[in-house]
Amino acid sequence: MTVSLHGLAVARGVAIGRAVLVVSSRVDVAHYFIQASEVEAEIGRLRTARDAVAQELQRLQASVAQMKREDAPHELAALLEVHQMLLQDDALTEGVKHWISERLYNAEWALTTQLEIVARQFDEMEDDYLRERKADLEQVVERLLRQMKGTAAVLAPPPPPRRARTDSDEGEAGEGDFDVPLVLVAHDLSPADMLQFKKSVFAGFVTDVGGKTSHTAIVARSMDIPAVVGARSASQLVRQDDWIIIDGEAGVVIVDPSPIILAEYGFKQRQGELERERLWRLRHKPAVTLDGEAVELLANIEMPEDSTAAVKAGAVGVGLFRSEFLFMGREARSLTRLPDEDEQYEAYRRAVEGMRGMPVTIRTIDIGADKPLDGKASKQEYLNPALGLRAIRWSLSEPAMFLVQLRAILRAAAHGPVHLLIPMLAHAREIRQTLALIEHAREELRAQGVPQGEVKLGAMIEIPAAAMMLRVFLKHFDFLSIGTNDLIQYTLAIDRADEAVSHLYDPCHPAVLRLVADTIAECRRQGKGVSVCGEMAGDVQFTRLLLGLGLRSFSMHPSQILAVKQEVLRADTGKLAPWAQQVLDSDEPSELLGH
Ligand code: PEP
Ligand code: MG
Repeated sequence: MTVSLHGLAVARGVAIGRAVLVVSSRVDVAHYFIQASEVEAEIGRLRTARDAVAQELQRLQASVAQMKREDAPHELAALLEVHQMLLQDDALTEGVKHWISERLYNAEWALTTQLEIVARQFDEMEDDYLRERKADLEQVVERLLRQMKGTAAVLAPPPPPRRARTDSDEGEAGEGDFDVPLVLVAHDLSPADMLQFKKSVFAGFVTDVGGKTSHTAIVARSMDIPAVVGARSASQLVRQDDWIIIDGEAGVVIVDPSPIILAEYGFKQRQGELERERLWRLRHKPAVTLDGEAVELLANIEMPEDSTAAVKAGAVGVGLFRSEFLFMGREARSLTRLPDEDEQYEAYRRAVEGMRGMPVTIRTIDIGADKPLDGKASKQEYLNPALGLRAIRWSLSEPAMFLVQLRAILRAAAHGPVHLLIPMLAHAREIRQTLALIEHAREELRAQGVPQGEVKLGAMIEIPAAAMMLRVFLKHFDFLSIGTNDLIQYTLAIDRADEAVSHLYDPCHPAVLRLVADTIAECRRQGKGVSVCGEMAGDVQFTRLLLGLGLRSFSMHPSQILAVKQEVLRADTGKLAPWAQQVLDSDEPSELLGH
């Protein structure tokens, strides 16, 4: 039966494919694709874990048998017996092997996928006793997952999945050789998970939770695939392998579509592809408005390799390299250590060289809030993660780590133009401390004779307090970059990752627009560089307004550059400036913006 779900539109386009369900479990589980040649070894890991759990249960059974009747009730022995049976049950083991060998899931992912399928079968049972065995099954799987923890191979970046094989397939599929598009469905995905999936080939994705500018959504946007977040119960309703349609523009997910609906969305998908082909022709065209104003279109990247997509899309530099993605998800991949100076230096140097002489703006680590280092810190661990120890606050509390990063960035600057960008500053004291540490890193490198380059220094304007003391910022920095994602969050007191208040997360709020406009105007007045690197910069609904407010530098995902360029080419800033003032003065700016 066709079901449609509504969520928040995150990334444009239509995806049609079979669902790959990523189920959250009580044990932290890594999700990645293995190589076809690793299938046997992965099944072997599962077998070893199963044998170990079987022995563990046997030991428990033996000790229960030796206990006195009052210490070991009969139920306990019976329960352990049930666990042994469930452990050996074909429905579980054969299913897991299927996901490993046919979909190339790692063993833990295969196990939680199969658990979810079998658990649903238990849910549908009429018999109370049998229905309650679901909890036992979950316990058995948890034991297996704990056994497997630590036995996962230290991951190289996961290869793209081979195509989803069908039962009739023979032999191995070639790399990237897909005939069934796969779409990802999950309750939640951490930015670190998303990074893993970024290297895979998914046609789209859906999550139950998340806001439009949550970091998970941001990484999804950078993958340039249709995506919907905040779809609430999607992961409950969708089943493994269901056909689903994701309409990333309308924020709609259709499960098990009828042939008529499929045909309609197939048409829409082709229209989207034609539009992209049309935009592609603009990639070498300079971004200049009708009245001759040159506009800088820069890229936001998460990994050095993203510089390839940035250059391809015609970016004239990187306006935001979110360096924290180099630090994230390492624990889940059995690597507890953070990247050292050399590893960071290599990563920054790759980005700099990838941009072929164009500037790269490296933002120092912005960890915390919805970007925990290990990908799993829960909100309960902190009272208010978005208001807590994140970004520069975290760096200043870990000065040794921060110095390592600063040295790595300064060293990379010897290979091409680098701008150093500091996130989340609010206090003059923080500015002073940061500048002192930058100077310290410079001196250390100088004393050791290590080559370093000059960098332009920039600060992000993400907190209203910062936007209201621009004078202090402009005394110390060469340029400012407006992080509208956080500026909106902190101006309106709306958690950007919380879909329950996403209707109040309003980029058009007069207070937000006022702070953005003032920052642009003051930088221009003082002849300092200013750019917007939040999601607003890549949203074509705001291009004309930002141009009208005097902005000439926009930083966004490479996938958004051409659509924004099209808007720039059609704009006349002379006409837009007075209209932008009207929008600023309005109580309901969204009405004038036609949103
Ligand atoms: C922002 O806040 O607008 C920004 C660009 O930083 P991030 O999205 O990484 O918090
Ligand atoms: Mg931010």
